Amino acid sequence: MKAQEFDLIVIGGGSGGLAGAFRAASHGAKVALLEPKELGGTCVNVGCVPKKAMWLAAELSQKLALSAQLGFNSVPPALDWREFVVHRQRYIAGIHASYMRRLDESGVVLMPCHGRLLDAHTVVNADGIRLQGRHILIATGGHPHRPDIPGAELGLVSDDFFNLCSAPAHVAIVGGGYIAVELAGVLQALGSQVELYVRGPRLLEGFDAQIADELADGMRQHGVRLHFGHSVAALERAADDGVVVLAEDGTRSDRFDALIFATGRRPNTDRLGLDAAGVATDEKRFVRVDAYQDTGVPHIHAVGDVTGQAALTPVAIAAARRLMDRVFGASPDARLDYEGIATVVFSHPPAGKVGMTEEEARLHHGDAVRVLTTRFRPMLHALADSPQRSLFKLVCAGSDDRVVGLHLLGEGADEILQGFAVAMKKGITLADLHDTVAIHPTSAEEVVLMR
Ligand code: FAD
Ligand code: NDP
Repeated sequence: MKAQEFDLIVIGGGSGGLAGAFRAASHGAKVALLEPKELGGTCVNVGCVPKKAMWLAAELSQKLALSAQLGFNSVPPALDWREFVVHRQRYIAGIHASYMRRLDESGVVLMPCHGRLLDAHTVVNADGIRLQGRHILIATGGHPHRPDIPGAELGLVSDDFFNLCSAPAHVAIVGGGYIAVELAGVLQALGSQVELYVRGPRLLEGFDAQIADELADGMRQHGVRLHFGHSVAALERAADDGVVVLAEDGTRSDRFDALIFATGRRPNTDRLGLDAAGVATDEKRFVRVDAYQDTGVPHIHAVGDVTGQAALTPVAIAAARRLMDRVFGASPDARLDYEGIATVVFSHPPAGKVGMTEEEARLHHGDAVRVLTTRFRPMLHALADSPQRSLFKLVCAGSDDRVVGLHLLGEGADEILQGFAVAMKKGITLADLHDTVAIHPTSAEEVVLMR
């Protein structure tokens, strides 16, 4: 059978794959997109979107508790989790429908099945149909990783979290990264007693140490129990269907109703035919790409989580769009600059960072580093006499005090950071911040008022 021919075959219809398909089609390319599951990939179905919905529910629950302290005459109501899931999934169904509409409008051919490379130009789909592509984009993302320990199958992963219909009474979470922190915050706010098992000395490796420590204090205030330097050696089934954690030092935990592994993710590169096409991977099986998202094989590209670069939705999207502008558009040098990407952890309160941590700045700039910090109580928390505080930190370097890092922990940090990320990309200095008139009374004004 003769293979169907396309300018671009995209394997994977998540953040990166969809963005690449749409952008290539807008440049006039004939595009096929292979995706066996729901459109939108991790972000839309088991990542950013349902997570943010749960975070919003948790924020509301905490605000309702504060309102009672401020004279609102009502008992904070408990969340009907099942009803909330209906709203969450309806919102997600709207995103699916919008993607379908856009695919139709842009003429992208959607094949709802798994794809595998047969050689450097040929992809076979699960129905055995062969597709020939001038270019191929690998955007297959990743999946949650369970540690290789006895009883690991007793633990849930983040995908399973989105199938819950109520808050388990007593939950253990293993890991200290983005997902562990976010799920711990949501579950604790929505009624679980959460214990976090972190093998390292602090949360959020790669974030500013002071911010991570302050966040840990805040989590403790909310009732989360944190165990640092704790390596989980095995899980055991408890008599009544619960789970017990066995640590490397021989200690046994209390019984948990559920345990969630948030121990990183692995790329979806198995059964993808990478060897047949000659595409190289690293020791963890992430696809190797250069600064232009090119694999070593001409015309085969990769973006997003499958490459092991910053695993964030806007990164996958931005990399895919620039790649397609270079390949099919009129921008021969387009590529994503991976420096200065802002990121937010949706903790309670949220924590965001852009640029260098204080530690990184001192490594790069030695003594020519100036750090300014401010710690304050946001107005709502001061009014309600709640202990929650914000910690903002500016890292400046060089004789002109160029702003090289901004680290925010506090209410509104998720919304405040984006604008400052733009300014930092443009190379602002501390003097520029001081020259900016504040917006009062806000948390954001603290960034321009730090002395
Ligand atoms: P994905 O979105 O994972 O898409 C890959 C797609 O490829 C999938 O749909 C899969 O079914 C498909 N696929 C796999 N193999 C094949 C094959 N052989 N053939 C065809 N299709 C295939 N990022 C943020 O920026 N902000 C957040 O708040 C955030 N929250 C997150 C919360 C959680 C719990 C998780 C797990 C992740 C979160 N992320 C967040 C990260 C974000 O979801 C990912 O970085 C992003 O989805 C990566 O996009 P991608 O296109 O590389 O892969
Ligand atoms: P992270 O890399 O953020 O964290 C993984 C955590 O698991 C680390 O604390 C790591 O510890 C720990 N870990 C790894 N292996 C083991 C093990 N065998 N036993 C115990 N602990 C272990 O990964 P996540 O899974 O949390 O998230 C994946 C990625 O998804 C993130 O890196 C982020 O890019 C993205 N994401 C983004 C979000 C956002 O933008 N808000 C939200 C959620 C995810 P150690 O540091 O010691 O290796």
